Amino acid sequence: MPIFHECQRCTACCRWPGQVRLTDEEITRLAAFKGLTEFDFIQRFTRLTQDRRGLALMDKPNGECIFLAGNDCSVQAVKPQQCRDFPNLWNFPGFEKVCHAIPRMVSAEEYQRLVARATRPPDSGTT
Ligand code: SF4
Ligand code: SF4
Repeated sequence: MPIFHECQRCTACCRWPGQVRLTDEEITRLAAFKGLTEFDFIQRFTRLTQDRRGLALMDKPNGECIFLAGNDCSVQAVKPQQCRDFPNLWNFPGFEKVCHAIPRMVSAEEYQRLVARATRPPDSGTT
């Protein structure tokens, strides 16, 4: 049976080193959420990806994501797909040691339902 990892919103994944890649659509959505033009959003909150082929969210000097506010994501409603997909659709060896998501063995149907709900993009409705 598949294992679904239920996020506990501990925000550890918003604090460790890495990069959150942004699609054009996500930049549009994030800029609108922040009440900024896309140009201003890009200037203030993004940086080049390591391969210099796209944009990623900027980090704070302490390495946290620029949008982490205390123990909350300040752009939760429109956070990038990469954030939504972790840890069920992508992760890395040993992630269970640093991520507090609770593993649950579920049926294949339940797994599909739970993953779809956890990773659903913001403008795809609530059902
Ligand atoms: S995915 Fe894991 S590390 Fe990230 S907030 Fe959820 S429980 Fe914490
Ligand atoms: S956008 Fe939100 S969920 Fe994604 S890394 Fe930043 S603070 Fe965490």
